[in-house]
Amino acid sequence: MRFAIVERNDERSRALKNELTSELEQRGHVESLNPEIVISIGGDGTMLQAFHTYLDQVEHITLVGIHTGHLGFYADWRPEEMKELIHHLDGKQFEAVEYPLLELKIDYADGSKNQLLALNECTIKSFNQTMVCDLSIRGDYFETFRGDGLCISTPSGSTAYNKALGGAIVHPALEAIQITEMASINNRVYRTIGSPMLLPKHHDVEIRPVNPIDFQLTYDHFASIVHQNVTAITCRVSNQKVKFARFRSFPFWKRVRESFLAEERT
Ligand code: NAP
Repeated sequence: MRFAIVERNDERSRALKNELTSELEQRGHVESLNPEIVISIGGDGTMLQAFHTYLDQVEHITLVGIHTGHLGFYADWRPEEMKELIHHLDGKQFEAVEYPLLELKIDYADGSKNQLLALNECTIKSFNQTMVCDLSIRGDYFETFRGDGLCISTPSGSTAYNKALGGAIVHPALEAIQITEMASINNRVYRTIGSPMLLPKHHDVEIRPVNPIDFQLTYDHFASIVHQNVTAITCRVSNQKVKFARFRSFPFWKRVRESFLAEERT
């Protein structure tokens, strides 16, 4: 098996990487730039890095995460379980679950376009003034948003920034994207829907700035400045998916409970 390891760049994660590399190589597996399996050692943030490092090969890779901090959503193996994980990796045959991704298309005034993929979400914010933009869903005008910004997340990203904004936690078996507002202005003059919204796979949302302002666009752990010449940002569920290795059952709702409520039933 060809493998690659992405680690958080702390002492513990580096040591685990060295140990795992040598164990896998002793078993005849090969570290490769064209891996079949990508192992992330760190936290969910490290998994985001691993995903983007191998994004151009996303159809051919399967991801697995070892957490060296607290339990993660993407990183669900503990360092103490390395032997068990190696045993599974050695077996070569494993099941994988597929999670939906967010596709992001940016149109510029000069006609150029940019396309990005996100595992967690993208956010669109303005810097020093209220963001005003028209939202259309499936080509139909929906609302004019006024506020700090918008977050568009995947189901697996729904436990990250989206959750902090009051969005719903969405099971990754649902092929959907969620739109959540950041501090929208709602009064007798200005009105937004005010609730998080889930769009199914065949729907898209187009966000068009009303005034030419500078945007900050973030996607996953990347933040970039998008200047005035953006005419539209369109988000939809991507046709591409990401695969995570499932060597054992660890239901999503159990992970939610263990991450946000309590480890043991009290
Ligand atoms: P970071 O600011 O260093 O860490 C953000 C936190 O989000 C970390 O604790 C990370 O877990 C956790 N996280 C990432 N993906 C998650 C997921 N799918 N479910 C639950 N928790 C998740 O930034 P980072 O490590 O580079 O991660 C970038 C992510 O930070 C963004 O995609 C965004 O979702 C999130 N973020 C959240 C807020 C907020 O909640 N107010 C604000 C900005 C960004 P680990 O510790 O396991 O890495």
